[in-house]
Amino acid sequence: MHTRPAFLSSIMMSLLVFLMACNLPVGDTVPVAGSSQAPDGGPPLPATEVQPGGISTGTPQASTFFETAVIVDTRSEPVTREQAQNLVADANHILFALTPFGVSMVDFVEDGAGGTMDAIANRYISSHASALPDGIIIFSFGDFGQAKLYGGYAFTLPGPAGFRNPFNSPVVGNASLYIGVVDYSHRFAGCGYGDADTVQSAVSIGGECRNQPGTECVERNGYSMCSTAVDDLYASSPTYFAASTIIHEILHSFSPGGVTDHYGTPECNARMGWPAGRFDPIEADLFNNMCPFVYDEFTGSYQP
Ligand SMILES: [Zn+2]
Repeated sequence: MHTRPAFLSSIMMSLLVFLMACNLPVGDTVPVAGSSQAPDGGPPLPATEVQPGGISTGTPQASTFFETAVIVDTRSEPVTREQAQNLVADANHILFALTPFGVSMVDFVEDGAGGTMDAIANRYISSHASALPDGIIIFSFGDFGQAKLYGGYAFTLPGPAGFRNPFNSPVVGNASLYIGVVDYSHRFAGCGYGDADTVQSAVSIGGECRNQPGTECVERNGYSMCSTAVDDLYASSPTYFAASTIIHEILHSFSPGGVTDHYGTPECNARMGWPAGRFDPIEADLFNNMCPFVYDEFTGSYQP
């Protein structure tokens, strides 16, 4: 979203950022789950290699990585290098199950100097111009708290003159870095909070729990979660949602449609040749709530 012609107004930019905002299935605009069937188009999971002696060598690893620098916006919340490394490792497994690529953390910095997410990312870009990664993950609540609200969002920024990204986005080309702003501690399916940081109710309020007020809240992963969400893949660990969000936000820069390229939208179903209204909640989670074709766009973008 960065190759911003100068004539774009700040209002227009706000709109563009909004369009990229994450809409993982915790908000109030998610299609109602209409199917509980097993995923029929789910991603192939990498098989575990077993050596002749019967000793497992563990999960196969990608040989090519989408390289990221992690920036912690220390005004929002602390995230340690180890936490960031572990989260990117989780994201790596998620991406490699869906594409030939992994994702790696090649740098880690803390930034408390403030400003917008643009400013934070540009500080990194200008001070590391000779050795830039493919993308940047900023752990932050985001501009106007958008990452805290949605879980994350995405934008792109131009690299310095001569910068060439091996991932050539069909949307912005190969001269940009892909930026994802991610709320590290985002509460997936938070229940009973309303707009507060602490629990206000024993049942869901407002648009929580897929817009089902009155849903019972239960304690899970260290916070109050919708009882209807505890079996979701996103609830499988305290950090799965954030790891999934890293992939979701990276992928946004490789599809032109913004939120219409989420899983389960009319545009996604049409693009995939699926029936209108099709929505498989298990498949949605496996694809990080992004339309499957976007993974093909990402894979096809690689031009080393
Ligand atoms: Zn999104």
